[in-house]
Amino acid sequence: MKNKRLYILTLILLLLIIIFYYAPEFLLNKGKAALLKGDYLSAYKNLNLAITIKRYDKDIRFYYVKTLTKFKSNIKIQKAIYKFSESIQNDSAKLLAGTKVYDWKYNIYRAYGENYIEHVSYDNKILRWDINTFPLKVYIENTSDKNLPNYYISEIKRCFSNWKNASGFINFTYVQTPKNADIVVKFSDFDNSNCKEGGCKYVVAYTNPIVKGSRLKQMIITVYERDPYGRFLSTKELHNTVLHEIGHALGIMGHSDNPSDLMYMSTNQPQIQSSSSGNFIFFTSNDINTLKLLYKLLPDITNVPLSQVNNKGLFYPPVLLGNERTVNMRKLIDAQNYVKKAPNISGGYIDLGIAFAELGKIEEAKKSFNKALALAATENEKALAYYNLAVVSMSNKKYKDAIKYAEISKTIMPSEEINDLINSIRQYLSLSMYNPQLK
Ligand SMILES: [Zn+2]
Repeated sequence: MKNKRLYILTLILLLLIIIFYYAPEFLLNKGKAALLKGDYLSAYKNLNLAITIKRYDKDIRFYYVKTLTKFKSNIKIQKAIYKFSESIQNDSAKLLAGTKVYDWKYNIYRAYGENYIEHVSYDNKILRWDINTFPLKVYIENTSDKNLPNYYISEIKRCFSNWKNASGFINFTYVQTPKNADIVVKFSDFDNSNCKEGGCKYVVAYTNPIVKGSRLKQMIITVYERDPYGRFLSTKELHNTVLHEIGHALGIMGHSDNPSDLMYMSTNQPQIQSSSSGNFIFFTSNDINTLKLLYKLLPDITNVPLSQVNNKGLFYPPVLLGNERTVNMRKLIDAQNYVKKAPNISGGYIDLGIAFAELGKIEEAKKSFNKALALAATENEKALAYYNLAVVSMSNKKYKDAIKYAEISKTIMPSEEINDLINSIRQYLSLSMYNPQLK
């Protein structure tokens, strides 16, 4: 009896030695041979098993990556190779993966031309419509009871067809109700309290995405009916503004650095205009290249379930945008540049605060949101500042402050989003009361 147990134990030990010592070596050699013969599937199977057993082996890692590079670069392969390029183990596998990622990037830039794709993300996520759901349904609010000039609607429609023609693949159809529309254009009374010291820096439109989890529900473009002097917007102002906002509604969530691009954001260009704004602004090839490339990136947020997105021919976003930290650093620099140019615009400090928060710099984030609050010219901006103060207090585990800020934001501007936030703060708060160390 005793002998039998010893026998079984020895057998198990032997088996373990074979698995962890000889098997990876054996699989590696089999994989290398298959790779040499051009039998990549067999090479993959052997090396994949080898790397599962022995994750940090330099040779296995190298031949595994080498095998991956032999396959067609679908999303799965791109993800796997990208992961190696970012690994902390500085070896030839990492180098090979890095070279491959660089090749992809180089080829994509060569194929799509100059662009500002690194500025498109929304909370570090790629947000865009699913091409298979085109034409996008557009609802423009009825203006008959608002006494707006007739050219408002025609100019807005012209902007949509400009995007359609310039992109060559985006398509729109107009619908009669906002309920199932993808893009809603609505009009709002202007709050002109932002005119100070003889000048007016004002927002004539803004775009809000309605997002639930990974689902893009709707894009809402709000256009102010009049400028701060009570005058109707000219066709030029409408054109420049709405064309730019449609760019956001299509998923270009950031701005270009190049002043000649439509999606450039300056203090006197499209989105934020002074009363004496310049010329009609049109797309540049950068704008269109960026849009085309955006619709080749695997989305994180879109209007269909992610499992329904056709991945064929798509690029894995980090290949172009880099890892999260790179993206966050770039965002911080963008936001800092923006507030330098427009130190009196509340929205700039919101972006700056978000960039700080994403880098874990909570105190700086709070300071920025408080500055945004002090500069807030509209109720919407105030509510947004309080909302962000609530979020940053929550992540700093100051739940009571978070609730206070969220409640103020809700009073100013009730929304589903703020209700969700209040609910999750309450959950954290009750958790922290049971678990003192969570406080
Ligand atoms: Zn903009």
